[in-house]
Amino acid sequence: MTGTVYKSTGSWYTVKTNEGKEFECRIKGKFRIQGIKSTNPVAVGDIVDFDLESVGDETIGVINNIHDRKNYIIRKSVKLSKKTHIIAANVDQVFLMITLNNPPTFTGFIDRFLVTAEAYDIKTILLFNKVDTYNEDELLEVKYLASIYRKIGYECIGISAVTGKNIDRVKELMKGKVSMFAGHSGVGKSTLINVLEPQLNLKTAEISDQHKQGQHTTTFAEMFDLSFNAKIIDTPGIKGFGIVEIDKDELGDYFPEFFALKNQCKFNNCLHIDEPQCAVKQALENDEIAWSRYKSYLQIIEGDEENYRVDIYAE
Ligand code: GDP
Ligand code: ZN
Repeated sequence: MTGTVYKSTGSWYTVKTNEGKEFECRIKGKFRIQGIKSTNPVAVGDIVDFDLESVGDETIGVINNIHDRKNYIIRKSVKLSKKTHIIAANVDQVFLMITLNNPPTFTGFIDRFLVTAEAYDIKTILLFNKVDTYNEDELLEVKYLASIYRKIGYECIGISAVTGKNIDRVKELMKGKVSMFAGHSGVGKSTLINVLEPQLNLKTAEISDQHKQGQHTTTFAEMFDLSFNAKIIDTPGIKGFGIVEIDKDELGDYFPEFFALKNQCKFNNCLHIDEPQCAVKQALENDEIAWSRYKSYLQIIEGDEENYRVDIYAE
């Protein structure tokens, strides 16, 4: 049988088949996934093959194969030195929620997030939330920011989780896909999810109730089916959205507008800093590349000698 992992407790996995049947599964033997040393071999979002076995009068699933991942998001564990924890696999898109104030979301944060998402190969959609609270100047600022990111290929939508503005557009984009929501604490992630699916609120409440009853579990990512043919992966309690290590001379590849000009720089290993005949710097002078983006690039690249780390926090 084949199904998708909806929930994991570390030793048990809830797997749902395409027909919607749920099975509690365990892992048999050791899985080694090339290139990753992770604390969890199977993650939420994984597609797995499993056999059914009878244990007493119960039937459990035994996972024997993991399908190749389209992508996956990791978190490095501080405690289990250098071991990686896979937060989620096969994510179609991340909605990055942004507010101008309460809390402020700075372009440096947005750009680091986008670099990470590009490195993970996950599509990002920018949601400028709380548009109901902005004055004219702030709305202009949102428009300006959105124009920067739209120009380089990111879809941007101004929304209000409170008035419901453009929520239908978000729903439309979510149909048939697995989505995640990210952004600073207070930008409105929970409010938006409640608006998208009021029913889900109940489930979340049930889960936290179990915690109150003293069930000894750490919070793990969990996938939910929404009523409009969409799936979301919720990552309660997980602070780090992911850490990526990228070589200095590759960083520009994760800035789409820099990448597009790469072949026009004189040197093919151009870092776009002080090399002569650099197409990126030329575009910057011509106002074709936003200064804020270039500033973020420099901030990231100045971080380390050989490698730099981008830490993205979802909470
Ligand atoms: P989270 O930490 O990202 O989950 O943020 P919450 O959903 O808890 O929202 C934080 C606060 O912002 C709450 O008081 C919400 O009511 C408020 N909020 C969220 N979205 C909007 C919005 O679109 N407009 C307004 N005016 N307030 C919002
Ligand atoms: Zn260059």
